[in-house]
Amino acid sequence: MQIFLARTQGFCAGVARAIQTVEQALTAFGAPLYVFHEIVHNTSVVGHFKTKGVVFVNCINAVPPGGRLIFSAHGVSPAIVDQARVRGLLTIDATCPLVTKVHHEAAFFAAQDTPVILIGHNGHEEVEGTSGYVKPELLHIVSTVEDIDQLTIAAHKKVAVITQTTLSVDDTRTLILKLRGRFPRLTGPDREDICYATQNRQEAIKELARSLAPASPANSLIIICGSPNSSNSNRLQETGSHLGVTTIIVDHAGEIDMALLKNKTHIGISSGASVPRDLVDEIMARISNAYPDSTVTTFDNPEKNIVFPLPDM
Ligand code: SF4
Repeated sequence: MQIFLARTQGFCAGVARAIQTVEQALTAFGAPLYVFHEIVHNTSVVGHFKTKGVVFVNCINAVPPGGRLIFSAHGVSPAIVDQARVRGLLTIDATCPLVTKVHHEAAFFAAQDTPVILIGHNGHEEVEGTSGYVKPELLHIVSTVEDIDQLTIAAHKKVAVITQTTLSVDDTRTLILKLRGRFPRLTGPDREDICYATQNRQEAIKELARSLAPASPANSLIIICGSPNSSNSNRLQETGSHLGVTTIIVDHAGEIDMALLKNKTHIGISSGASVPRDLVDEIMARISNAYPDSTVTTFDNPEKNIVFPLPDM
Protein backbone atom coordinates (compact mmCIF):
# COMPACT_ATOMS: atom_id res chain seq x y z
CA MET A 1 0.00 0.00 0.00
CA GLN A 2 1.23 3.50 -0.85
CA ILE A 3 0.14 6.34 1.45
CA PHE A 4 0.32 9.96 0.31
CA LEU A 5 0.07 12.72 2.89
CA ALA A 6 -1.22 16.01 1.47
CA ARG A 7 1.17 18.94 1.70
CA THR A 8 -1.15 21.06 3.85
CA GLN A 9 -1.18 19.77 7.42
CA GLY A 10 -1.70 21.37 10.80
CA PHE A 11 -3.54 24.52 11.78
CA CYS A 12 -3.94 27.47 9.43
CA ALA A 13 -2.71 30.79 10.82
CA GLY A 14 -6.22 31.91 11.84
CA VAL A 15 -6.92 28.73 13.80
CA ALA A 16 -3.48 28.74 15.43
CA ARG A 17 -4.06 32.34 16.49
CA ALA A 18 -7.50 31.58 17.96
CA ILE A 19 -6.23 28.57 19.90
CA GLN A 20 -3.21 30.48 21.23
CA THR A 21 -5.53 33.29 22.26
CA VAL A 22 -7.57 30.93 24.43
CA GLU A 23 -4.42 29.34 25.87
CA GLN A 24 -2.91 32.71 26.76
CA ALA A 25 -6.17 33.99 28.24
CA LEU A 26 -6.41 30.86 30.39
CA THR A 27 -2.86 31.42 31.60
CA ALA A 28 -3.42 35.13 32.26
CA PHE A 29 -6.94 35.10 33.72
CA GLY A 30 -7.74 31.46 34.58
CA ALA A 31 -11.11 29.73 34.36
CA PRO A 32 -13.96 30.17 33.86
CA LEU A 33 -13.33 31.65 30.47
CA TYR A 34 -16.19 31.95 27.99
CA VAL A 35 -16.01 31.51 24.22
CA PHE A 36 -18.82 32.55 21.89
CA HIS A 37 -19.49 29.47 19.70
CA GLU A 38 -16.80 26.84 19.23
CA ILE A 39 -13.40 28.57 19.09
CA VAL A 40 -12.74 26.53 15.91
CA HIS A 41 -14.77 23.69 14.45
CA ASN A 42 -12.88 20.73 15.82
CA THR A 43 -14.23 18.27 18.38
CA SER A 44 -10.83 17.49 19.85
CA VAL A 45 -9.81 21.14 20.32
CA VAL A 46 -13.15 22.06 21.90
CA GLY A 47 -13.07 18.99 24.16
CA HIS A 48 -9.53 19.85 25.29
CA PHE A 49 -10.52 23.39 26.28
CA LYS A 50 -13.64 22.19 28.11
CA THR A 51 -11.40 20.15 30.40
CA LYS A 52 -9.48 23.37 31.16
CA GLY A 53 -12.58 25.23 32.29
CA VAL A 54 -13.55 26.97 29.06
CA VAL A 55 -17.31 27.36 28.65
CA PHE A 56 -18.64 27.56 25.09
CA VAL A 57 -21.83 29.61 24.76
CA ASN A 58 -24.20 30.45 21.92
CA CYS A 59 -25.88 33.35 23.67
CA ILE A 60 -24.39 36.44 25.33
CA ASN A 61 -26.82 36.12 28.26
CA ALA A 62 -25.22 32.78 29.12
CA VAL A 63 -22.13 34.71 30.30
CA PRO A 64 -22.39 36.27 33.76
CA PRO A 65 -22.10 40.08 33.82
CA GLY A 66 -18.44 41.06 34.02
CA GLY A 67 -17.32 37.68 32.62
CA ARG A 68 -14.48 37.31 30.14
CA LEU A 69 -15.59 36.32 26.63
CA ILE A 70 -13.59 35.40 23.54
CA PHE A 71 -15.12 35.75 20.08
CA SER A 72 -14.26 32.68 18.00
CA ALA A 73 -12.21 32.53 14.79
CA HIS A 74 -15.44 32.67 12.76
CA GLY A 75 -16.22 36.21 13.92
CA VAL A 76 -19.41 37.82 15.20
CA SER A 77 -21.84 40.50 14.08
CA PRO A 78 -21.73 44.06 15.47
CA ALA A 79 -24.97 43.26 17.33
CA ILE A 80 -23.18 40.56 19.35
CA VAL A 81 -20.33 42.95 20.15
CA ASP A 82 -22.92 45.47 21.36
CA GLN A 83 -24.75 42.91 23.49
CA ALA A 84 -21.46 41.94 25.15
CA ARG A 85 -20.66 45.60 25.85
CA VAL A 86 -24.09 46.27 27.35
CA ARG A 87 -23.70 43.22 29.60
CA GLY A 88 -20.36 44.54 30.81
CA LEU A 89 -18.31 41.63 29.46
CA LEU A 90 -14.55 41.78 29.02
CA THR A 91 -14.07 40.68 25.43
CA ILE A 92 -11.15 39.38 23.39
CA ASP A 93 -11.55 39.15 19.64
CA ALA A 94 -10.04 35.99 18.15
CA THR A 95 -11.77 36.50 14.79
CA CYS A 96 -9.43 35.42 12.00
CA PRO A 97 -8.05 38.56 10.32
CA LEU A 98 -9.15 37.14 6.96
CA VAL A 99 -12.74 37.01 8.21
CA THR A 100 -12.41 40.54 9.58
CA LYS A 101 -11.35 41.62 6.07
CA VAL A 102 -14.68 40.30 4.74
CA HIS A 103 -16.50 42.18 7.52
CA HIS A 104 -14.83 45.38 6.33
CA GLU A 105 -15.87 44.70 2.74
CA ALA A 106 -19.46 44.05 3.83
CA ALA A 107 -19.56 47.26 5.88
CA PHE A 108 -18.02 49.24 3.00
CA PHE A 109 -20.62 48.18 0.45
CA ALA A 110 -23.50 48.43 2.92
CA ALA A 111 -22.48 52.01 3.76
CA GLN A 112 -22.99 52.86 0.07
CA ASP A 113 -26.46 51.28 0.14
CA THR A 114 -25.24 48.73 -2.40
CA PRO A 115 -27.08 45.38 -2.30
CA VAL A 116 -24.66 42.74 -1.05
CA ILE A 117 -24.77 39.15 -2.26
CA LEU A 118 -23.02 36.94 0.26
CA ILE A 119 -22.04 33.55 -1.13
CA GLY A 120 -22.02 31.20 1.83
CA HIS A 121 -23.82 28.59 3.84
CA ASN A 122 -26.80 29.99 5.69
CA GLY A 123 -26.55 29.17 9.39
CA HIS A 124 -22.74 28.92 9.48
CA GLU A 125 -21.33 31.14 12.26
CA GLU A 126 -19.11 33.06 9.85
CA VAL A 127 -22.05 33.87 7.58
CA GLU A 128 -24.12 34.95 10.60
CA GLY A 129 -21.32 37.30 11.68
CA THR A 130 -20.70 38.79 8.23
CA SER A 131 -24.44 39.20 7.62
CA GLY A 132 -24.63 41.47 10.64
CA TYR A 133 -22.59 44.11 8.82
CA VAL A 134 -25.26 44.55 6.14
CA LYS A 135 -28.78 45.94 6.57
CA PRO A 136 -31.23 43.05 6.16
CA GLU A 137 -32.95 44.72 3.19
CA LEU A 138 -29.60 44.89 1.33
CA LEU A 139 -28.43 41.35 2.14
CA HIS A 140 -28.88 38.32 -0.12
CA ILE A 141 -27.29 35.01 0.92
CA VAL A 142 -26.82 32.50 -1.89
CA SER A 143 -25.11 29.14 -2.06
CA THR A 144 -26.36 27.65 -5.34
CA VAL A 145 -27.08 28.63 -8.94
CA GLU A 146 -30.77 28.16 -8.13
CA ASP A 147 -30.49 30.72 -5.32
CA ILE A 148 -29.10 33.20 -7.86
CA ASP A 149 -32.00 32.49 -10.21
CA GLN A 150 -34.38 33.49 -7.45
CA LEU A 151 -32.78 36.88 -6.74
CA THR A 152 -35.16 39.75 -7.44
CA ILE A 153 -32.57 42.56 -7.68
CA ALA A 154 -32.91 44.57 -10.91
CA ALA A 155 -30.17 43.61 -13.40
CA HIS A 156 -29.05 47.22 -14.01
CA LYS A 157 -28.25 47.84 -10.33
CA LYS A 158 -24.79 48.03 -8.86
CA VAL A 159 -24.43 44.91 -6.76
CA ALA A 160 -21.56 43.71 -4.57
CA VAL A 161 -20.51 40.13 -3.99
CA ILE A 162 -18.52 38.82 -1.03
CA THR A 163 -17.98 35.26 0.12
CA GLN A 164 -17.49 33.02 3.10
CA THR A 165 -13.77 32.23 3.47
CA THR A 166 -14.04 28.44 3.42
CA LEU A 167 -15.99 27.69 0.23
CA SER A 168 -15.19 25.47 -2.71
CA VAL A 169 -12.96 27.52 -5.02
CA ASP A 170 -14.42 25.87 -8.13
CA ASP A 171 -18.08 26.16 -7.08
CA THR A 172 -17.58 29.79 -6.06
CA ARG A 173 -16.00 30.64 -9.39
CA THR A 174 -19.07 29.19 -11.13
CA LEU A 175 -21.43 31.24 -8.96
CA ILE A 176 -19.48 34.47 -9.50
CA LEU A 177 -19.46 33.91 -13.27
CA LYS A 178 -23.23 33.45 -13.12
CA LEU A 179 -23.57 36.66 -11.09
CA ARG A 180 -21.38 38.55 -13.57
CA GLY A 181 -23.66 37.46 -16.38
CA ARG A 182 -26.74 38.53 -14.45
CA PHE A 183 -25.41 41.82 -13.02
CA PRO A 184 -23.07 43.69 -15.41
CA ARG A 185 -22.23 46.20 -12.65
CA LEU A 186 -21.21 43.51 -10.17
CA THR A 187 -18.40 44.64 -7.92
CA GLY A 188 -16.34 43.05 -5.18
CA PRO A 189 -13.53 40.56 -4.93
CA ASP A 190 -13.39 37.67 -7.36
CA ARG A 191 -12.35 34.65 -5.30
CA GLU A 192 -9.95 36.21 -2.85
CA ASP A 193 -12.41 36.13 0.06
CA ILE A 194 -11.74 32.40 0.03
CA CYS A 195 -8.71 32.30 2.28
CA TYR A 196 -5.26 31.01 1.40
CA ALA A 197 -5.66 28.01 3.73
CA THR A 198 -8.86 26.86 2.04
CA GLN A 199 -7.39 27.36 -1.43
CA ASN A 200 -4.14 25.56 -0.57
CA ARG A 201 -5.99 22.60 0.98
CA GLN A 202 -8.24 22.16 -2.04
CA GLU A 203 -5.22 22.38 -4.38
CA ALA A 204 -3.46 19.78 -2.23
CA ILE A 205 -6.42 17.39 -2.64
CA LYS A 206 -6.15 17.79 -6.41
CA GLU A 207 -2.45 16.97 -6.11
CA LEU A 208 -3.30 13.91 -4.00
CA ALA A 209 -5.79 12.75 -6.62
CA ARG A 210 -3.03 12.97 -9.26
CA SER A 211 -0.76 10.88 -7.02
CA LEU A 212 -3.49 8.26 -6.69
CA ALA A 213 -4.24 8.22 -10.42
CA PRO A 214 -2.03 5.18 -11.22
CA ALA A 215 -4.43 3.07 -9.15
CA SER A 216 -7.89 2.18 -10.39
CA PRO A 217 -10.77 3.97 -8.62
CA ALA A 218 -11.58 0.71 -6.83
CA ASN A 219 -8.07 0.62 -5.33
CA SER A 220 -7.75 4.22 -4.16
CA LEU A 221 -9.22 6.18 -1.28
CA ILE A 222 -8.81 9.64 0.25
CA ILE A 223 -9.31 10.08 3.98
CA ILE A 224 -10.00 13.61 5.26
CA CYS A 225 -9.60 14.27 8.97
CA GLY A 226 -12.09 16.92 10.06
CA SER A 227 -15.12 17.45 12.28
CA PRO A 228 -18.64 17.19 10.81
CA ASN A 229 -19.30 20.93 11.25
CA SER A 230 -15.99 22.05 9.71
CA SER A 231 -16.81 23.85 6.47
CA ASN A 232 -13.32 23.70 4.98
CA SER A 233 -13.00 19.98 5.82
CA ASN A 234 -16.30 19.19 4.12
CA ARG A 235 -15.18 21.10 1.03
CA LEU A 236 -12.07 18.85 0.91
CA GLN A 237 -14.28 15.77 0.97
CA GLU A 238 -16.33 17.23 -1.91
CA THR A 239 -13.20 18.13 -3.86
CA GLY A 240 -11.92 14.56 -3.71
CA SER A 241 -15.32 13.09 -4.59
CA HIS A 242 -15.75 15.46 -7.56
CA LEU A 243 -12.42 14.20 -8.89
CA GLY A 244 -13.80 10.67 -8.91
CA VAL A 245 -11.88 9.39 -5.88
CA THR A 246 -13.83 7.78 -3.05
CA THR A 247 -13.29 10.30 -0.24
CA ILE A 248 -14.38 9.87 3.36
CA ILE A 249 -14.26 12.29 6.28
CA VAL A 250 -13.51 11.18 9.83
CA ASP A 251 -13.19 13.13 13.06
CA HIS A 252 -10.39 10.88 14.37
CA ALA A 253 -8.55 7.64 13.59
CA GLY A 254 -11.03 5.49 15.51
CA GLU A 255 -13.79 6.43 13.06
CA ILE A 256 -12.09 4.81 10.06
CA ASP A 257 -13.94 1.74 8.85
CA MET A 258 -10.86 -0.42 8.24
CA ALA A 259 -12.90 -2.69 5.94
CA LEU A 260 -12.80 0.18 3.42
CA LEU A 261 -9.02 -0.19 3.15
CA LYS A 262 -9.18 -3.80 1.95
CA ASN A 263 -7.75 -4.10 -1.60
CA LYS A 264 -6.66 -0.46 -1.58
CA THR A 265 -3.19 0.14 -3.02
CA HIS A 266 -3.17 3.98 -2.92
CA ILE A 267 -4.41 6.00 0.07
CA GLY A 268 -4.39 9.79 0.28
CA ILE A 269 -4.68 11.53 3.65
CA SER A 270 -5.44 15.15 4.40
CA SER A 271 -7.09 17.30 7.04
CA GLY A 272 -9.01 20.51 7.56
CA ALA A 273 -7.47 23.76 8.74
CA SER A 274 -8.66 23.27 12.33
CA VAL A 275 -7.33 19.74 12.81
CA PRO A 276 -4.46 19.15 15.25
CA ARG A 277 -1.53 17.47 13.52
CA ASP A 278 -1.46 14.63 16.06
CA LEU A 279 -4.92 13.45 14.89
CA VAL A 280 -3.48 12.98 11.40
CA ASP A 281 -0.46 11.18 12.84
CA GLU A 282 -2.85 8.81 14.65
CA ILE A 283 -4.59 8.04 11.35
CA MET A 284 -1.23 7.35 9.71
CA ALA A 285 -0.24 5.12 12.64
CA ARG A 286 -3.50 3.14 12.56
CA ILE A 287 -3.10 2.41 8.85
CA SER A 288 0.63 1.68 9.10
CA ASN A 289 0.00 -0.76 11.95
CA ALA A 290 -2.61 -2.58 9.90
CA TYR A 291 -0.43 -2.53 6.78
CA PRO A 292 3.21 -2.66 8.00
CA ASP A 293 4.60 -2.85 4.44
CA SER A 294 2.99 0.46 3.44
CA THR A 295 5.17 3.35 2.26
CA VAL A 296 4.49 7.03 3.02
CA THR A 297 5.11 9.91 0.59
CA THR A 298 5.01 13.45 1.95
CA PHE A 299 5.16 16.83 0.25
CA ASP A 300 6.59 20.17 1.32
CA ASN A 301 4.10 22.29 3.32
CA PRO A 302 3.87 25.77 1.74
CA GLU A 303 2.34 27.36 4.87
CA LYS A 304 5.10 26.87 7.45
CA ASN A 305 5.89 30.55 7.86
CA ILE A 306 2.41 32.11 7.86
CA VAL A 307 1.64 33.54 11.31
CA PHE A 308 -0.98 36.06 12.43
CA PRO A 309 -0.19 38.23 15.48
CA LEU A 310 -2.32 37.63 18.58
CA PRO A 311 -5.13 40.06 19.48
CA ASP A 312 -4.92 42.48 22.38
CA MET A 313 -6.13 41.09 25.68
S1 SF4 B 1 -9.61 28.70 7.41
FE1 SF4 B 1 -8.95 30.66 6.55
S2 SF4 B 1 -10.46 32.17 7.30
FE2 SF4 B 1 -10.68 30.30 8.56
S3 SF4 B 1 -9.34 30.67 10.32
FE3 SF4 B 1 -8.09 29.61 8.77
S4 SF4 B 1 -7.05 31.25 7.61
FE4 SF4 B 1 -8.77 32.17 8.74
